[in-house]
Amino acid sequence: MKKGLDILYKLQQNDDTIKELENTIKELPAAVKIMESERDGKASIIEHTKNKLNENVKEREKLEEEVLLIKEKIKKYKEQMNKSTTNKEYQGFMSEIKFEEDNISSVEERIIERMLGSDEIMKEIRESEAEYNKIADEYNKNIKELNQSLAENKTKLSEALQTRELLRKDIPENLLKIYDQLIKKKGGKAVSFVEANFCGICNVKIRPQRFSELITTDSMFFCENCSRILYKKIEENKKK
Ligand SMILES: [Zn+2]
Repeated sequence: MKKGLDILYKLQQNDDTIKELENTIKELPAAVKIMESERDGKASIIEHTKNKLNENVKEREKLEEEVLLIKEKIKKYKEQMNKSTTNKEYQGFMSEIKFEEDNISSVEERIIERMLGSDEIMKEIRESEAEYNKIADEYNKNIKELNQSLAENKTKLSEALQTRELLRKDIPENLLKIYDQLIKKKGGKAVSFVEANFCGICNVKIRPQRFSELITTDSMFFCENCSRILYKKIEENKKK
């Protein structure tokens, strides 16, 4: 029986491992997804600077249109000026034309400002791209590690499942039946490792009489509080 219990305890430990591995395997893909979406969210730093550039181009186009409209106006003034009959009328058009020409100069200055601004924005775009690449590299490295860990855990799980089959073959049928029932009823914990003279799971003290029987006889004992199979590792020298 004690040998049966040894294997039963190994089975419990292996089942614990299987449970942990299954949980990890379930959680890892979600962690990868979170990292991927965080990484993609960081691309907004590039978007932001690209939007600034679009804005700049739009402003420039608007100003260029404005120049065309003013030139059109000047052309009409000149036509009217040529048809003017009095000197006063002529002078009037002259001053209008002068006013609009100054206007063109000021709009053209604003166009140049935008052009210089766009060089600055292009620089910002390159910087934000470099920054994003640096951040994305870090994320990709972590994502790769998570995926590697997922693959490793899957391998470990398949090994643990094989071990489970091997261990179960070595355990008597009746013992296995009790174990499986307890696993179902007791949240996956059928065997309790006895620490000193306490049940390792519910921490209730084992009565001295039972405890002495537990370590000296081959019988199987259950915790009087939580009903789990008690397992006390017998030291090699005590066995002899
Ligand atoms: Zn207990």
